[in-house]
Amino acid sequence: MSRFLSARFTNLEAYVPGEQPQDMQYVKLNTNESPFPPAPAVLEAVNAAEISRLNLYPDPEGRALRQKLAEHYEVNAENIFLANGSDELLNFFFMAFCDGERGVAFPSVSYGFYPVYASLYQLPAEEIPLREDFRLEPSDYCGIGKNIVIANPNAPTGRIIGVEDIERIVRSNPDHVVMIDEAYIDFGGESCLPLVGKYENLLVCQTFSKFRSLAGGRLGFAVGSPGLIEDLDKMKYSTNSYNINRLTMAAAIATIDHHEYYAANSRRIQENRSYTVKELDKLGFETLPSKANFIFTRCSGLDGGALYRALKSKGVLVRHWDREAIANWCRVTIGSREQMDVFLEKVREILEEVS
Ligand SMILES: *Cc1c(COP(=O)(O)O)cnc(C)c1O
Repeated sequence: MSRFLSARFTNLEAYVPGEQPQDMQYVKLNTNESPFPPAPAVLEAVNAAEISRLNLYPDPEGRALRQKLAEHYEVNAENIFLANGSDELLNFFFMAFCDGERGVAFPSVSYGFYPVYASLYQLPAEEIPLREDFRLEPSDYCGIGKNIVIANPNAPTGRIIGVEDIERIVRSNPDHVVMIDEAYIDFGGESCLPLVGKYENLLVCQTFSKFRSLAGGRLGFAVGSPGLIEDLDKMKYSTNSYNINRLTMAAAIATIDHHEYYAANSRRIQENRSYTVKELDKLGFETLPSKANFIFTRCSGLDGGALYRALKSKGVLVRHWDREAIANWCRVTIGSREQMDVFLEKVREILEEVS
């Protein structure tokens, strides 16, 4: 830290992304990326002709892509906001809607970026504890009179709540914005997007980083009432009007056009998820029910940190947090069948070594 950093940031603890090691080839099951490349049509869309136009700024309104998303989700383009990854979208949500008076609430075990944004904007954040087995109890959020952000499915647990539960939360907090972060909704969950037309205080946040194999392109989007979208636009035009680059825009349009390719990949991931959970069961692991492209699992007698380190030394990366509430657990991204077989083989080796 230099002596020039503003005093209001000296206690800010920045978000720590999952490792992206560049030194060797790991079986990478730590940041919930897709094991599958983008659809072939995406490679064609990001072609020399598109690159040759990089001297020109992209459309700041992203009209073609918003129109495409609007058709796909059966809403209007005015209901859609584009962001440079859903992390940027979360930033704009906190910036636009949360303040000392309105506050913000989110689950105590959830996406690690929420408390960081709360701290960045110096907000009184309420971290609502999960119940037994990391279950989120919807009534804990009903009528609390605060802005709310909930990841559904939740990360890192993988657990999901139903659309009717979300509707209760949204309906009971009519003077506050409820942001549902659906980063993992396309791995077997049911989206609450159909509620957007009914509630002006609901924002649904999605990303191209997981299901749509485009983490490197950095694209997220929100669907909400035109008023909320206008407010997000105000934040965007006050920070970076050209937040989506040309190549990502072209890639994203081709992505939506080839939905079936991604849906088929998701079915494979869901099969690999059931397979991995079953194999871990046989080895004595306990795994939470997951509707995401990852699982949250633990093995009694084997500390989560120890498992993480042993796997890393054998070339497999998973995610582990030192926080007490989840220290016994590891989050494992579901990759290809081959990757999961390597993971399981290394787990078996480790269990033999410690016994
Ligand atoms: C991965 C993830 C994001 C961030 O996605 P980007 O679009 O890559 O910024 C947001 N929320 C949750 C819960 C995530 O797991």
